[in-house]
Amino acid sequence: MKRSDILKKIKTLPSCDLLVVGGGATGCGIALDAASRGLSVVLVEQNDFAEGTSGRSSKLVHGGVRYLEMAVKHFDRQQYQLVKEGLFERFLFLRNAPHLTRVLPLVSPLYRIIKLPYLWVGLKLYDFLAGAHGLGPSGYQSKEKTLQEYPQLNTRRLKGGIRYYDGQFNDSRMALALALTAAEQGALVANHLALVGLEKSAGRISAAQLEDRLSGERFSLPARAVVNAAGPFADQVRQLDQPDAEALLAVSSGVHIVLDTNYPPPKAGLLLSETEDNRVLFVLPWQRRCMVGTTDRAAELSEHPKATQEEVDYLLRHLQRVLDPPPRRENICAVWSGLRPLVRNSQAADTSTLLRDFLIEESPSGLFTIAGGKWTSYRRMSEKLVDQVVAKRNLTARPCQTEDLRLLGGEDWQPTGWQKLAKDYLLDERTARYLHANYGTRASAVAALAGGPLLEPLAPGYLCIGAEVVYAVRHELAETAIDILARRLPLALLDTQAARQAGERVVKLIAQEKGWDAARCAEEHSQLEQRLSQAL
Ligand SMILES: Cc1cc2nc3c(=O)[nH]c(=O)nc-3n(C[C@H](O)[C@H](O)[C@H](O)COP(=O)(O)OP(=O)(O)OC[C@H]3O[C@@H](n4cnc5c(N)ncnc54)[C@H](O)[C@@H]3O)c2cc1C
Repeated sequence: MKRSDILKKIKTLPSCDLLVVGGGATGCGIALDAASRGLSVVLVEQNDFAEGTSGRSSKLVHGGVRYLEMAVKHFDRQQYQLVKEGLFERFLFLRNAPHLTRVLPLVSPLYRIIKLPYLWVGLKLYDFLAGAHGLGPSGYQSKEKTLQEYPQLNTRRLKGGIRYYDGQFNDSRMALALALTAAEQGALVANHLALVGLEKSAGRISAAQLEDRLSGERFSLPARAVVNAAGPFADQVRQLDQPDAEALLAVSSGVHIVLDTNYPPPKAGLLLSETEDNRVLFVLPWQRRCMVGTTDRAAELSEHPKATQEEVDYLLRHLQRVLDPPPRRENICAVWSGLRPLVRNSQAADTSTLLRDFLIEESPSGLFTIAGGKWTSYRRMSEKLVDQVVAKRNLTARPCQTEDLRLLGGEDWQPTGWQKLAKDYLLDERTARYLHANYGTRASAVAALAGGPLLEPLAPGYLCIGAEVVYAVRHELAETAIDILARRLPLALLDTQAARQAGERVVKLIAQEKGWDAARCAEEHSQLEQRLSQAL
């Protein structure tokens, strides 16, 4: 269904059970959970799906090795429980979206042999907590094997590595898959549609005021329950309900950089421990590039957060200690920042020690707010939230269905499915594998469009093709060039210059689909350039 048709439907709805505000991991997860229980659901996202924090994560599906360390150090049962639950959710995450996820080996390079027993015991505990849902056995590996996996590692002082396993996923396509699967289950999901006000009757929230950010039109939608899943903006939404509501969240920024082809992707992700501020950094293979992150600094709220020079320098400084040759600023192809919505804990000294779990709050006028958590736990968070809404509003609904619900493109997905795709549509192996991994069983619909110029790559050295732009406009609710370049593909987060090069073709293809005139194309170009040159 097209966005314009979805908007028409939303505008004429007499009411809905749940209006979900926010199209990130949490909001999309809730929309899917509620729609699959048979509730009537509308989801509104003020920008694009996953344009907030959920498209700017480290893309790891993890139980939280770091939280485990805290659990052990501080004998903290709550952290221990978080890890155990996280590992179960990791298993469901990989099973329900097999096309968008994979098992990723990770290695922590060992520079002091004295640290070996400590790390070894910790990771064995991680395996133990995962139980039958483990992804592979952790253990020590030699210096030679560690260097084979990443020859760029500085050999000085290197003693070997400790290996363990987590999952990796395509975060922006995962949020989109959740939204589109929710739509298949009957939810009405709309991007570029913002909540701008709440209407009350006898002190209780009865309707939401929405604004179409593309046309400027405003209208109101009655709802039995309004759910605030606005991530770092959750306090702003709470203040639409209660202007003097005290802040629940602290916001911190996490920056990633992507290195150029002088630094090929490591075969296994690297976990670098002992940073200056006592955290960990990851050097990860991502879309055939090498991605590094992240930082953790208190930040201002912004729809398009910008990485500071200090944050980029911090990442480079740490990399320069472990990579040979040391990367410089000119080796960076893309930089992006994401804001962590962390539940405030007044006793914590800085943002990195705040507990990364979530909270659910219901205000006196009935606004449900859900905040915190991590991507990996989106399903469990959604289940808990919908359980509460159903109970408090006395709604008739099936029990939670999402433990065993494959996301769009993941139904009947087979790892070798790319072979049939290549054969049926005469694609080369790399393109077939790429489409199969990004679209799952829906890849054949993209491939069917991929004739002539639409089969050509959008930028040299990258696998994304013109057919994906057409598919994104027709079937994935993409409205702007940056929706496509930063989230449907996501080229802009890999290589800003390549995204710039692809921009003209992308705008042209959207224009053909939407019937844009020259003036509209020029406007789109300038908006795209603004985003690429300022902050994504
Ligand atoms: C740098 C970084 C790395 C991370 N890495 C990982 C990782 O590897 N693995 C992991 O499990 N977790 C990770 N996380 C955590 C994870 O990304 C977040 O917990 C998760 O994405 C939060 O999702 P959300 O839906 O709550 O917020 P968001 O993704 O920010 O979504 C909220 C949405 O609400 C929208 N919105 C706000 N106000 C309105 C309004 N008025 N009307 C309509 N829409 C509105 C926003 O535009 C936004 O899109 C990471 C976080 C960061 C910052």
